[in-house]
Amino acid sequence: MNQIENTNENNKFLTEVFRKYYFENKYFPYLYSIEKREFGYRRFDSMVVRHLSFKNIGELVAELVRNVPLDVYYSNAYYGFPSNPINEKQWEGADLIFDIDLKDLDIPCFQDHTYYVCNLCGFVNSEHKLCVNCDRGKTSDISLPCKRCFTAIKKEAGKLHEFLRSDLGIQDKFIEIFFSGNAGFHFHVNDPSIRILDSNSRANVTDYIIGNGFMCESIGVRKYGNGFLIKLPKSGIMTGWRKKISSSLGINQKSELKLRHIVETNGGYDGFRNEINRIAKKFGVQIDSQVTNDIHRVFRLPDSINGKSGLTKMKCDDLESFNPNNDACLLSDSEVCINLKTKLKINLKNCNFKLENTIEKVPSYVAAYLICKGLATISKNQ
Ligand SMILES: [Zn+2]
Ligand SMILES: [Zn+2]
Repeated sequence: MNQIENTNENNKFLTEVFRKYYFENKYFPYLYSIEKREFGYRRFDSMVVRHLSFKNIGELVAELVRNVPLDVYYSNAYYGFPSNPINEKQWEGADLIFDIDLKDLDIPCFQDHTYYVCNLCGFVNSEHKLCVNCDRGKTSDISLPCKRCFTAIKKEAGKLHEFLRSDLGIQDKFIEIFFSGNAGFHFHVNDPSIRILDSNSRANVTDYIIGNGFMCESIGVRKYGNGFLIKLPKSGIMTGWRKKISSSLGINQKSELKLRHIVETNGGYDGFRNEINRIAKKFGVQIDSQVTNDIHRVFRLPDSINGKSGLTKMKCDDLESFNPNNDACLLSDSEVCINLKTKLKINLKNCNFKLENTIEKVPSYVAAYLICKGLATISKNQ
């Protein structure tokens, strides 16, 4: 077996660059009510530690600099006793958090920059199957999102932002958007009047945003025997989801005849219902509802480093101009030698890197990115 991993040296290198980051970036301005949050982290050996609490940012930073975790998490919930066991924490509310992930968006180029890294020996395979190097390990899909990917996910994030502001009427000052540090965006809503929503109410919110269960009846089309009836609702069709659907169909409150024609063109009630589902899917947002509906979950801490990429979970004030591979790439520039497991091209901190040799000298932020992705190891010959 050809053992190509170099785990101890990799972890030693990552620990050093992560520690330097936490030592120099000790502010965490988007971490509110720290004393009421539960904290947890994943160590470099994959062990997960939970039920921690800190009285202030200083205590948290001291812990991060001392123990240097691979990933840091905190609860969306506010607790009276955050370090107690789960049933004795005294839940006081939780921020409403949304997660949009690139892998759920079905982007055509996604496969073009996906690598299949063996979980056991770290070998990079050409396809998703049992590892050809060790014959034992299964492969994980590792993607290096490209510009097109980020454009697509930012568009999805923009849709969610619009839902929160327009449909749910949440004030902008309560909505914070973060790049997750890898391949997604997190929306944190910390409106005090929303904090107390239970899991069921959150499920109603996510169903609404995804567009689950929009009924033809809502815009006045009912099944009647083998046919259908049309009676536009008195409350109108020009708000919320009704508006999205009716605008897409090109109808308004006076369009009974036109609507009848559209239903007939779609082959009657059932065909029309399929068309409505298709439109709802287009306007809805691909969010992970389980994440949002959970009121006891831990989330990646804003301004912490994402151990899957070495990029930072970064506040994003303007989706359009935000460039994840530049704006969230904050690790050191000092150069190190790495062994590459595959040839690849990446753009980080607005520089293009075309890496074609088995050993390359690169800035630490490139080394950290590729080691976190499992596509390179730190070289013994520095
Ligand atoms: Zn293997
Ligand atoms: Zn792409």
